[in-house]
Formats: sequence, structure tokens, C-alpha cells
Amino acid sequence: MTAATAELLDYDDVVARYEPVLGLEVHVELSTATKMFCGCANRFGAEPNTQVCPVCLGLPGSLPVLNEKAVESAIRIGLALNCEIVPWCRFARKNYFYPDMPKNYQISQYDEPIAINGHLDVPLDDGTTWRVDIERAHMEEDTGKLTHLGSDTGRIEGATTSLIDYNRSGVPLIEIVTKPIEGAGERAPEIARAYVTALRDLLRGLGVSDVRMDQGSMRCDSNVSLKPIGRKEFGTRTETKNVNSLKSVEVAVRYEMRRQAAVLESGGRITQETRHFHEDGYTSPGRSKETAEDYRYFPEPDLEPVAPDAEWIERLRATIPELPWLSRKRIQDEWGISDEVMRDLVNIGALDLIAATVEQGASSDAARAWWGNFLVQKANEAGVELDALPITPAQVAAVVKLVDDGKLSNKLARQVVEGVLAGEGEPEQVMKDRGLEVVRDDSALQAAVDEALAANPGIVEKIRGGKVQAAGAIVGAVMKATKGQADAARVRELVLEACS
Ligand SMILES: [Zn+2]
Repeated sequence: MTAATAELLDYDDVVARYEPVLGLEVHVELSTATKMFCGCANRFGAEPNTQVCPVCLGLPGSLPVLNEKAVESAIRIGLALNCEIVPWCRFARKNYFYPDMPKNYQISQYDEPIAINGHLDVPLDDGTTWRVDIERAHMEEDTGKLTHLGSDTGRIEGATTSLIDYNRSGVPLIEIVTKPIEGAGERAPEIARAYVTALRDLLRGLGVSDVRMDQGSMRCDSNVSLKPIGRKEFGTRTETKNVNSLKSVEVAVRYEMRRQAAVLESGGRITQETRHFHEDGYTSPGRSKETAEDYRYFPEPDLEPVAPDAEWIERLRATIPELPWLSRKRIQDEWGISDEVMRDLVNIGALDLIAATVEQGASSDAARAWWGNFLVQKANEAGVELDALPITPAQVAAVVKLVDDGKLSNKLARQVVEGVLAGEGEPEQVMKDRGLEVVRDDSALQAAVDEALAANPGIVEKIRGGKVQAAGAIVGAVMKATKGQADAARVRELVLEACS
């Protein structure tokens, strides 16, 4: 039997009879320059097995040296999650055999994690928050990456060849574990997704990881169990591994709730096991879950304990930014924009760029108009992310100032921005080099106006006869003759004066 054909209970029936209990474990790869215990580069996407050394290959006699930057990131993550940072902690060896881990043990933290007892107030779609209690955040190293070829699923079952890349071996990881999440009822799947989303945004805001779930730099395991409503003891849980998108977190939790409920309803028992998540929305059984005793944990003898002093912790505490969703809310209020507009700006990656442009002196409306319209279009045309365009917030703010000062019309400003994007220099320089400055000099304008009037005697007649709106045609002719560089309002004044 495949799991795809497993019996599922209707979701409404599940939540009417059972209370779900969740536990979420998130692994995040730190974006440090080097690995956790050696000087190898920590970079995604390099040629396989080019970023390796005796330490991360687990060769006999090699000794690990702890990456201070990784400890700093671990402490900052702990602080941002309102955890207590312990004054003293150690690494442990987690012993097991698998080809992705050549020294046959993983250096991790076991009973002495660096950060404990925190919480995160998670924003939900309806505007309320849900407090998720954090059990611990601990440091460990990543394993190598196995690629199985020849099977339909990409899993080892049925594979004909397996490849191993040790570039990932020894990459610094932080594992963040929640306490049991209870009382969520029917909202459990939504809360699971909201928590991982909030955690991703928080980690991104801290700048400790690129939190790319699609590239595996952030991975979520979701533990789910059910208990009949009113009962105290937890049921048997399953752990769905490596769920690799935010939406999938929600789907995996809902699926497990429905599957487990169907098993329980038919008088069966839940097997404690890890399960694989499949992209089309179901889970299938993996190995039965090892218990901690199986790993023979013991303190790592090759590394000194970590004892962060209070002064260091306070210095790091000062680097914790405002929670991203709180700063988003504050910015939204300041700019006076709707939830929908805000969501769009976040989705196109414009928020930070607009905020930086405002910081450089532009109004939020003007900054929003440039990044949210013209520049996002340019980014789409070039097939790059908005922040990869060769223009800075300071340069956009400079263009806005030229428009505010009346030196550029909006149309001319777009040509200036195109010049900046083409590498022609700073906005003011581009304006001068391309001769784009608005013509405000009356004598130059007067000549163009006189010429247009002389060429259109019929229209002049109409204006003189009281049809003031006919002046538009003359203004248009002057704008065309000056390649859009005339100050249109001033031209209109000159035209009406000449015809009065
Ligand atoms: Zn190495």
C-alpha cells in the first residue's frame, strides 16, 4: 500500500473529535563565510567536493576549531527568540553511520544547548498573534548531500547510483525546536505555516541565513500527534521530515491530522516513525524513529565548552533589529497604504528599497512609484530581482529631488533613470550629458511659442475667440519641438499671454 491511498478522515470530523499537538523543528544553515569547524568556504552551488578538507571529510587525526561567527549567530537567534542564553554549554557527538557523514558522528548539542526557554509571537492572517513557546536553539553541523539516481522518486529505494557531495558537510546549522503547541484546534495547520513564515522573516531580518527553503538552507520537520478531546496524555507522534515550502508545512500537518484520525477511528494505532512529504500533498512512512539512546551521545572531547560572557551577549543583543512584521506594520501606517499594496510591495521585494529611498530624502509616494512601477518593470524586462538592478536608493532619491526642484519632468526623469541603469553615471550627470534638463528660460521658450503660434493661425483665432482649451494644441506643439523639455505650465501661460 502506498501512503497516497491511505484513509483520511474529513477535516471537520478530525477537529470535532481530536485535539492536535504539534512540535516544529526548523534547521537553518547559517550564511557564515566558512564552515562550523574548519576554514572551508560555506557557499551553495559550488562544484561538488571542491570545498572540503580533512576536518569536514572526517579524516583521522583532524581536529575541529569552532567558528566564532556561528556562535554569534546562534546567540543572536536565541535572543531574537526571547531565549535565555546559557552561561556554559558543550557540544556532543551524535553517533550513527551514514555515508553523508564520513566520521560516523555528527557534532551537535544535546543536553546542553546554547539557548533555551524562549517564545515567538507569531502574526496570523486575521491580525491576531499566537505565542509559540521555544524549547531550545542549538548549534550543530550539516551533513553531506546524497543524490540518488535511477529511481522515480529521487529516494534511495530503487536507485541505481548514489552520489555524495561533501561541500555541505560541516556547514553551520542552528536547530530551533518548539515546545508542544497545544490548543490550536482546527487552526493547527495555519499556525504551523505562520510560525515557520515568521521564523523565516525573523532570521532573514537578522541576516544570519539566506533562509531559502527551496535550496534547503531552511528545512522544517513537523511532529504531529492527536489526542481525543478532553484527554491529557499526548498520543503517539509522527515526524514528517524536510518539508520544503511554507505552503507544504500547512499541507503536511493537515494531512497527518486526517490520516492519523482515520487510523484511530478504525481502532488502529499510530506507529512512531519519520515520514516523507511528497509534493503532491501526502506523506509516506520512512524509517521507524530512533530514540536518543540509539545515538550514544557523549560530550565532544575535541572542543572546548562555550561560555559566552554577559558583556558579549549584551553587545549582540544591541544588534537585534525590530521584528520584521512589526516594522512592516509601522511602515505601513507611516506611508498610509493598504494591506494589499503592502503585500504587493513585499512580494516584489521593494519594501527595503523604498524604505532606503525614503531615508535618502524622497517622499514615500515618489519612492513607491519608482520602485513599484517603473523599476519593477525594468527588472522584469532584464529578468533580475529588483535589488539586482544597477541603481541605488540614493540615486532614485536624487532623481526624485530633481523632479521636485522642477529640473526634470516625470517623463524626462524616466530617461535619466534609464541612463543610470545603462551605467552612464549619477542622475545629475546623466541629465546634463543627455541634455534633459527642463527648459525654464523664458527667452528660449518664447521663441518656441512664437514659432508654434505662427504655424497655427487657425488655433490662435480660436483662442482669441475665447476657446481657451484650444491652447492645449499649441502647448503640445511646443513640447514636441523642445523634445518634452519645456515647462508645460509656463508654456501655457506664455501662449495665453500672447493671445490676449
Ligand atoms: Zn573543511
